[in-house]
Amino acid sequence: MRLYNSGSRTRELFKSDTVNMYACGPTVYHYAHIGNLRTYLFEDFLRRTFEINGKTVKHVMNITDVGHLTSDADDGEDKMVKGAKREGKTVWQIAEFYTNAFLDDIDKLNIKRPTIMCKATDHIEQQIEMIQQLEQGGYTYEVNGNVYFDTSKFDRYADLANLSFDSMQARVESDNAKRQPQDFVLWFTNSKFGDQDMQWDSPWGRGYPGWHIECSAMASHYLGNKIDVHCGGIDHLSVHHTNELAQSECALGVQPWVQFWMHGEFLVTTEKMSKSKNNFLTVSTLEESGYNALDYRYMTLLTHYRKPLQFSWDALTSAKHARERLHKKVQGLHHAGALVGDVKLSELNESYVTRFMSAVNDDLNMPLAIAVLHDCVKDHDVSENERYILVEWMDRVLGLNLTLSQVIPPKIIELADQRLKAREQEDYARSDMLRDEILSLGYTILDTKEGYIFK
Ligand code: AMP
Ligand code: ZN
Repeated sequence: MRLYNSGSRTRELFKSDTVNMYACGPTVYHYAHIGNLRTYLFEDFLRRTFEINGKTVKHVMNITDVGHLTSDADDGEDKMVKGAKREGKTVWQIAEFYTNAFLDDIDKLNIKRPTIMCKATDHIEQQIEMIQQLEQGGYTYEVNGNVYFDTSKFDRYADLANLSFDSMQARVESDNAKRQPQDFVLWFTNSKFGDQDMQWDSPWGRGYPGWHIECSAMASHYLGNKIDVHCGGIDHLSVHHTNELAQSECALGVQPWVQFWMHGEFLVTTEKMSKSKNNFLTVSTLEESGYNALDYRYMTLLTHYRKPLQFSWDALTSAKHARERLHKKVQGLHHAGALVGDVKLSELNESYVTRFMSAVNDDLNMPLAIAVLHDCVKDHDVSENERYILVEWMDRVLGLNLTLSQVIPPKIIELADQRLKAREQEDYARSDMLRDEILSLGYTILDTKEGYIFK
């Protein structure tokens, strides 16, 4: 596999057989918009590509449920409090509601759930510990009750994003307490927001963590001191990831902390989507307009993740028609019920296997992978049964559910995942009970080498 590493700005060979993957997750004060979801789709394509290469992936994603100023464009209000006021709920209810909404969205988009999803508010202790490590190393200073990271103590600070002095001066909100404009807060006791609800005791006083520290702390808590791949949207490169790297390398004393930094380009809409202006598209908006979430998944596969993707309803409509035609063709392939798990890859048409693997392994060239899929589906020189198996195999990466006659409800997938876990723990009584429950809901589950499949 060759992947573009934003850190080295080149494509590099990815060698490791086990993958520690950290992906920055959502801020749960509102629904995720389809731009955010483009980034999670890219991360899903990445994870599935690792997996089809036989690699074992541990995928960790944080849930940002502490209120923050997360961008320079934010006004001076805590996002969580804003959400709570808007809906007449507490900040904790808002966080829970939108975390569940996020899970529903990713299920509908057939994005695999991360191995571990961790909330910032459940890991305050780890964040405090990391700030203490930074303090002991001499990387911090305190002004007006707030603890800052002193970027002048870390001479590689500008390297990840190749930041110029001017861009560092220009990019952050002004704060006279900072020694350098690019310094950032690790712990607030002197809240920027008068009505900050979520507060914790700390060695520096009662308050709450800065935004960046949660990722550094939870990444090392769940993945140790070395991360193979760390990803997010391209906007994270110059501030959030730059700050995460500075914190982690200084606190943990490792270099490099991350082997591969990977960033997805933005989904672009005619009018910039903004949660604060309420003019953003969600999975529900698409569904209400008659689209299936998988139409959007298909649409994002047609543009390389490192290129901006212009959203238009026309493009989504074409994606919908193409996906439906493809689904129908695959459903029409006469097949004997053989499944990928039953057949050795080496027994399948070598040309399609090679072409598909070289596409996905070439820095996730999904547009090319989709072209290979289309060629395969209509290739009359290959038996229908074999084409069907090849599609099922390719779909492990593409995730379009092409061999399913209907879309499996998330509840069934959840039960099947629980059953898989029970089997892995050799708890066969529980696994049989779950199989019966799934059957009673109208689905038959079959075990394969890689996991399971529905029939
Ligand atoms: P947030 O919930 O704002 O922290 O964003 C969640 C993820 O979505 C981050 O990885 C962002 O980089 C990414 N993101 C935000 N806007 C867009 C967009 N228009 N297109 C693609 N990714 C985005
Ligand atoms: Zn992060």
